[in-house]
Amino acid sequence: MTEKADLTAVLDRAAEGGRITPEEALDLYRSAPLHALGQAADAVRRRRYAGTEHIATYIIERNINYTNSCVTACKFCAFYAAPKSDKVWTRDLDDILRRCAETVELGGTQIMFQGGHHPDYGVEYYEEHFAAIKAAYPQLVIHSLGASEVEHMARISGVSAEEAIRRIHAAGLDSFAAPAPSCCPSGRARPSRRSRSPASAGWRSWSSRTASASSRRRRCSWARARPTPSASSTCA
Ligand code: SF4
Repeated sequence: MTEKADLTAVLDRAAEGGRITPEEALDLYRSAPLHALGQAADAVRRRRYAGTEHIATYIIERNINYTNSCVTACKFCAFYAAPKSDKVWTRDLDDILRRCAETVELGGTQIMFQGGHHPDYGVEYYEEHFAAIKAAYPQLVIHSLGASEVEHMARISGVSAEEAIRRIHAAGLDSFAAPAPSCCPSGRARPSRRSRSPASAGWRSWSSRTASASSRRRRCSWARARPTPSASSTCA
C-alpha cells in the first residue's frame, strides 16, 4: 500500500502526464481521496483537450431494468432476486417500449437495457427486444450489456459468444456498456472476486469477449471510449 503522501505524488505525476504502475493505480483506486482523484483527472482532461477544455458534454439516457432475476448472486448487489424467489419481477415488452417512448419524449437519445442474468434469457430474448426497440425508436442508441451477459446468453442458447455478439448487434445493440463484476482482477485478488460474484464469468472471459467485439469493429465501449456518462450500478 502506498502511503498517503505518496498517493499525492502519484496523483501529481499522473496529472502531469507521467506513467503510473498497476500497483499505484490499485492504491489510487482503493485509497485516493475522491476530490483529489477528480482534480487529477480534470487536469489530464484539460491538457489532452486543450482548446476545447471548457466544453463538457452529456447525453440523456434512461436505464431500463428488464428483470431482477439473476443466477449470479454478487454479494454487493441489492438489486437481484434469486430466480425462484417470490421477489422476482420481469418487465414485458410493452412496458419496455413505453419507457423508451417516455425517454424520447424527454429528449433522451440512449437507453441502457440492464438487468440480472435471467436463467431463461438467451440470445433470442435480446434479439427480440433490441429489434422491437429499434423498430419503434430507430433514433435511440442501445448501449447495454457486458461480457458477463454475453457469456450467459450464449450458454443458454447453446451458441458461441462470437455468434451471440453478432446476433445482438444485428438486432440493434449499438454499443456495449460497462464491464460486469467479471472484470475484477484475478491472480492475487481472485478469491475476493469469487466471493463477490461467485457465478460470474472471469476476467479472461471478459478480455476474450472484448477482443471479439473489437475485431468485429463494433461501436463498442469495451473497444473504444465514447462520451457516454451513464452510471450503471447493478451489472452489465
Ligand atoms: S450485479 Fe448484476 S450480475 Fe451481479 S447479482 Fe446483481 S444483477 Fe446479477
